[in-house]
Amino acid sequence: MGKYFGTSGIREIFNEKLTPDLALSVGKALGTYLDGGTVVIGKDTRTSGDVIKSAVISGLLSTGVDVIDIGMAPTPLTGFAIKLYGADAGVTITASHNPPEYNGIKVWQANGMAYTPEMEIELEAIMDSGNFKKAPWNEIGTLRRADPREEYINEALKFVKLENSYTVVLDSGNGAGSIVSPYLQREMGNRVISLNSHPSGFFVRELEPNAKSLSALAKTVKAMKADVGIAHDGDADRIGVVDDEGNFVEYEVMLSLISGYMLRKFGKGKIVTTVDAGFALDDYVKPLGGEVIRTRVGDVAVAEELARYGGIFGGEPSGTWIIPQWNLTPDGIFAGALVLEMIDRLGPISELAKEVPRYVTLRAKIPCPNEKKAKAMEIIAREALKTFDYEGLIDIDGIRIENSDWWILFRPSGTEPIMRITLEAHTEEKAKELMEKAKRLVKKAISEA
Ligand code: MG
Repeated sequence: MGKYFGTSGIREIFNEKLTPDLALSVGKALGTYLDGGTVVIGKDTRTSGDVIKSAVISGLLSTGVDVIDIGMAPTPLTGFAIKLYGADAGVTITASHNPPEYNGIKVWQANGMAYTPEMEIELEAIMDSGNFKKAPWNEIGTLRRADPREEYINEALKFVKLENSYTVVLDSGNGAGSIVSPYLQREMGNRVISLNSHPSGFFVRELEPNAKSLSALAKTVKAMKADVGIAHDGDADRIGVVDDEGNFVEYEVMLSLISGYMLRKFGKGKIVTTVDAGFALDDYVKPLGGEVIRTRVGDVAVAEELARYGGIFGGEPSGTWIIPQWNLTPDGIFAGALVLEMIDRLGPISELAKEVPRYVTLRAKIPCPNEKKAKAMEIIAREALKTFDYEGLIDIDGIRIENSDWWILFRPSGTEPIMRITLEAHTEEKAKELMEKAKRLVKKAISEA
């Protein structure tokens, strides 16, 4: 991780670490790095969005780069607009699922993929050097505004088609997805009931879609006898799903189902996922001709592997899905359209989910100050063998130890001061036992770090 950029761009509390000055510096550095061309910029619904966006725009224009400001826009709309306008890069002003006092800056490549850590380090070097390109008065970049929503919806409708109409409850979490996702679902011919769709920057529910944060969505699906519930995080690069019986569908199950659907739709091929994904995916997609490749956590790693291997689908167990036939930007809105197409072709999710093998996945978050993370991980690596009897260790991202019937991943969050534990086992009892041991190990490591 770099000095300013974490695993998903810059993400900090507004006016603490993320100041207008820092945003200006990012704009100037990106403009210097690009040395001409055009950048698309959009923001999510956070109250600090205009402050940060204006500063980034100002920096870009000062270097002679042209800017297309698409205003409030979910991340996937910005990714789409980069390609639509033939831009050289994109910027999203978003803190994704973080609380409302946070904001962030994430930079995207011309092909819709996020900037790689290497590219971010180059930007940081320019920021620290202060050697920004300075355009003379008559070569300053031009600023124009655009709204690509209609093009996005029309293009998506060419990819995804329904034979029947469904009732969809859509919970945008007061995020930027609210200005696109319900409209796409309606244009597909569905009856849409919107929840938390006022894009105010004041969030009614926790932004991370999970069983707890989506309890209102689950109740509404049940009460309205809807066919499905769909939810997004703050910038709608992610999707959470509630089935036709009003139950939150575990991420691992949804990842298996959609991977299977993509294999049916596009034929056999590679499915790219991350080191925190469980065994179910492999077991579910194998009979459908799918081969699973695991990579580092984060959408940029998934996008890179998709581009490298020509995979047919990429997804993280966080509900971040990349559909390469559409774009290399993670897209929770297009994902929602695909989920409806899957229901249309294969049947209700409550039925489909029964075919996905179930193992027990447990996750835990342990508070850990950022400055202690590296030392704590060293201690965990050193002590793991004393605590667990494992056969393999993968350290491409965090530490994953595994046996034939269980695995545990220890990984510091790149965006929050926490240590994550993810584990999977064949039985509830075994999973709980492993989690107890894992928590003790992590707490001990943090206290000694
Ligand atoms: Mg997000």
